[in-house]
Order: sequence, then C-alpha cells, then structure tokens
Amino acid sequence: MLRDTLIDRDLFEKIQEKVLENEGNGENIELKKKMLEKSALKRLRKKRSIKKYSGIKKEDLKEIIEFAGMISLEIFGGPSDFEIAAAHPEWCSHCGTCCKESSPIFIHKDELGILLRFNLDLKYEIVGNDEYPGHFRFKEDLPCKFHGAKRCKIYDSRPHVCRSYPLILMGNDDRHYYVLDLYHKCDYALNLLLEKSMILFDEAVSHI
Ligand code: SF4
Ligand code: SF4
Repeated sequence: MLRDTLIDRDLFEKIQEKVLENEGNGENIELKKKMLEKSALKRLRKKRSIKKYSGIKKEDLKEIIEFAGMISLEIFGGPSDFEIAAAHPEWCSHCGTCCKESSPIFIHKDELGILLRFNLDLKYEIVGNDEYPGHFRFKEDLPCKFHGAKRCKIYDSRPHVCRSYPLILMGNDDRHYYVLDLYHKCDYALNLLLEKSMILFDEAVSHI
C-alpha cells in the first residue's frame, strides 16, 4: 500500500490504536470524523490524480488521509500543523461551529491568571474541570455563552483553546500534544487535513 512507503504497517496500527484510545470511540464522534475524511477524499482526488501511478487505488488515498489526521508532518521533516494553519487564516469560514459545538471549553490552569487579568468578570463564568482535574472550563457551553451573532464577545480574552482551534491539546499531566480536531464540520480542519494529505501523497509517490 502507498502509505506503507512512509511508515511500516505495525507502527501505523500502533499509532491508530493509541489515537482511538485517547479520543474515545463514540459512534457519533466516529461518524463526524468519517464525514470529514470523506470530504477530504473527494477534494484530494481532484488535486492528485492516481491514474498515472499503476497499482495505487482509492483505498490508498483513504489511508493517506487517515494518516494525515493522526500525525504531525514534523516527523518527516515537514511543517508542523501550526505552521500550516498559521499560513492559511483564510481557511476559517467563521461559521462559529466550534463555539457552538465544543464541550468543555478548556482552560488550562496556567492560563487562568492571564485570562482574569484581561477580563476579571470571567471569574463568574469559569468552573473546575471534572474531566481534567486541576484545570478549568467555562460554566456554559453548547453553545458557548460568549458566542455572538458576528463574533466572540470576549475575543481579546478568549482561552487558548479557541485561539488554536482546530488544533486541540490532548494528553494528561505527564505529556501534552496537539492534534487536529476532526469532529466538527470545520472548513479550517478540512483544508488542513487536505493540505497535509497532499504533502504526504507527494512524499509517498516520490518513493515509488
Ligand atoms: S475554526 Fe472551523 S468551526 Fe471554527 S469558525 Fe473556523 S471554520 Fe468554523
Ligand atoms: S470564548 Fe469565544 S471563541 Fe471561545 S468558544 Fe466561546 S465564543 Fe467561541
């Protein structure tokens, strides 16, 4: 398979297992992820023709997309997800889905002080986070209380998670890392996934 030119199957399956373990594998979550991957596949097929490579099938592209959703291209000496996203702010369609559908809206213990320095009134809106003990969250979400018709009502003092979306922090107290959130209908995430997939595809075919 094409993706095997980049990483061996055993390692790929181990990474996949780890990702599923961290994300949980709810039916709804899995379905949303599949829908986004399907959209990426449709676009990738328009951007990269497989006709000129004998033996490469549609399934190979699916695997490349799945792989792009799991890893940072830094492991191949490529750009980080943040570097790619920062170069393309236009990918965000400002649809507001992330503000309406995210829960909890995570606040890291180390950013609490700075958020309150910018906006002391936020102290009435922030509570402890049961899911991530020691950290915090907004009291009201789904939708976030600060989601306005045009934009975030606390834009200048919004939490880090809102600034970095669709890249989200995962992990525990020992280890943190950023992953691409594929569970909302988000144009920014879709374009980032597509861009990473195109880079991985080009890298993979350069080895055959
Ligand atoms: S980050 Fe994604 S979900 Fe959020 S507003 Fe932009 S396109 Fe919409
Ligand atoms: S704080 Fe602002 S950017 Fe963050 S989820 Fe709420 S409305 Fe969206």
